[in-house]
Amino acid sequence: MVLERLTFKIRKRILYAIRISCLTMQSRKQACKGATEEKLCDLAIIGSGPAGLAAAIYGTRSGLSCLVLEKGVAGGQVMLAPWIENYPGFPKIEGLKLVEAMVAHAREYVDINEGTEVVGIEKEKDIFKITTTAGVFRGRSVLLATGASHKKLLIPGEEEYYGKGVSYCGTCDGFFFRKKKVLVVGGGNTALTDALYLHSIGCDVTLVHRRDVLRADQHLQDAIAEKKLKLMLNTTVERIDGDGASVRSVELKDVKTGKVTKMSLDGVFIAVGTTPSSALAKALCVDIDNNGFVKVDRSYRTNVPFVYAAGDVTGGILQIVAAVHGGAVAALSAFEDLANPYYTRTRATAEACDSKREQT
Ligand SMILES: Cc1cc2nc3c(=O)[nH]c(=O)nc-3n(C[C@H](O)[C@H](O)[C@H](O)COP(=O)(O)OP(=O)(O)OC[C@H]3O[C@@H](n4cnc5c(N)ncnc54)[C@H](O)[C@@H]3O)c2cc1C
Repeated sequence: MVLERLTFKIRKRILYAIRISCLTMQSRKQACKGATEEKLCDLAIIGSGPAGLAAAIYGTRSGLSCLVLEKGVAGGQVMLAPWIENYPGFPKIEGLKLVEAMVAHAREYVDINEGTEVVGIEKEKDIFKITTTAGVFRGRSVLLATGASHKKLLIPGEEEYYGKGVSYCGTCDGFFFRKKKVLVVGGGNTALTDALYLHSIGCDVTLVHRRDVLRADQHLQDAIAEKKLKLMLNTTVERIDGDGASVRSVELKDVKTGKVTKMSLDGVFIAVGTTPSSALAKALCVDIDNNGFVKVDRSYRTNVPFVYAAGDVTGGILQIVAAVHGGAVAALSAFEDLANPYYTRTRATAEACDSKREQT
């Protein structure tokens, strides 16, 4: 297992280095293409994780001309997953392999502009002007598939043992810790959901939260109490230790007394929040919820006409299947709207957007 993970990491780094070294050249090509400001696509997809890739396939197959803009390397967060065991059709596959398959499939339909970060979007009449680090692109509609990232504790050992016992996703990695002792860090809905999930698959779970009360919904707190999960309030994780290959223990601090104790365990699940990449959405006056996730309806339309969002940036279960679903539905909604507009563009909509922009 350890060897497999090492090999994975080394392979990932080599692949990443080769692809990044090609990007400068590739970005220049894309810059020329974009800088002419002549190329207008039907659907500009921002982000090439599972949501963006699925959208590219569904959008192009429905007859839309699509463009994918990706600030890094195509594939999104899945690249960071050592193993995926819950994506239908693949009982167990390395994240990188799944990404390669998805990217190759999408490339059959669309160009993926890697190394092309979108830094601004503005509406000019009926067209979105998309400014990137590699020039300007234009789209009749825009899909935000920019993903999200997990908040970190920023403590010693967290980075070193990531993938070796430290995880940010109970649903993704819990299975590796069945019958083992794990710590879940956090007091919100995600932390409690992870704790319950890990308990349900047979982990010995302790939930640790830095405050004196949990923030999660009452029904989750009731479930934690009912299942008699161990709970440590007013406690912070100070460091994560191991033998180099796996996590072995953590240092916990009682924030009231200052007392530090050591706990032996096998895994640490950190669930202290997710940061959605929703800056572009805000710039477009798209409605955002209290946690920063983009609000969408069941068709993945936002409140702004011809702007769609899908995947982790919209919240929910933050899983590949959900991202793929959202991307596909959003692309078909864009097709529907461009072929037979669903939105009525009124002066009121434009004014509402302008006044909102002024307030922020
Ligand atoms: C370690 C790890 C393990 C995981 N394991 C599993 C698992 O086992 N099963 C599972 O279902 N899910 C798993 N997940 C979650 C899964 O990877 C995500 O739910 C999924 O990748 C979300 O897809 P997405 O397309 O919404 O976003 P992402 O995959 O995050 O892709 C977003 C893309 O947008 C790009 N982007 C962002 N901003 C810009 C910009 N301004 N301009 C251009 N591009 C931009 C990013 O570079 C990125 O490539 C795991 C995640 C991690 C980190």
